[in-house]
Amino acid sequence: MPCTLRVRWTLIANRFPRPWRACPRCGTQRAFECSDKVRLNANGRRLDAWLVYKCVSCDDTWNHTLFERRNARDLDPDMLSGLEANDPVLVSRFAFDVAALRRVAHRVEEFAGSVARKEVLGDRPDRPKRLEIFLSLPSPVSIRLDRLLSMELGLSRARIATIVRHDHPKTNIKLNRLAIDGSRIGIDLSQECSETILLNAIRDRAGLRGERL
Ligand SMILES: [Zn+2]
Repeated sequence: MPCTLRVRWTLIANRFPRPWRACPRCGTQRAFECSDKVRLNANGRRLDAWLVYKCVSCDDTWNHTLFERRNARDLDPDMLSGLEANDPVLVSRFAFDVAALRRVAHRVEEFAGSVARKEVLGDRPDRPKRLEIFLSLPSPVSIRLDRLLSMELGLSRARIATIVRHDHPKTNIKLNRLAIDGSRIGIDLSQECSETILLNAIRDRAGLRGERL
């Protein structure tokens, strides 16, 4: 009988990151919210594209450059039609590009996400002694690993640290880091009254929705 319960948690971000910039109209640093709209400008064969942001305070717009003076022939036709149609998948890809936003913003405010789905992988053992959680993050979500595990499993961060460390005695797993796509976290349940943990590992909890870091 297998004695490890394997689950996959898929995390989704609740909202796009917000760049903070000096707003000319407000005269101070403000958060800018993605408007979900792309602006395209054609100059002969050359194309410019921006993702439009709005100041949360005064609605002044700021155009975040996606590319400039790109030859239309070099651009993938699907990409071009997606930009013209404000395709949500494409918008989301650019809006979650925190590295690109950091280059042009004073700072970038990121938001926590929530676990959208919990699935059991493979066989489900009767009395598991170990829990293995695989994290899937299709888009970047900013949440610390210990906070995520604590919220979702219903245990204190100190308790999480103990049972995770027990399972990874030789590796110094960093629970104070952000959760990343493809992570695998083993949890030792041999010393633990584990019924609730196991239940929480596979059932949805609404604890994280909409929260900031
Ligand atoms: Zn403003």
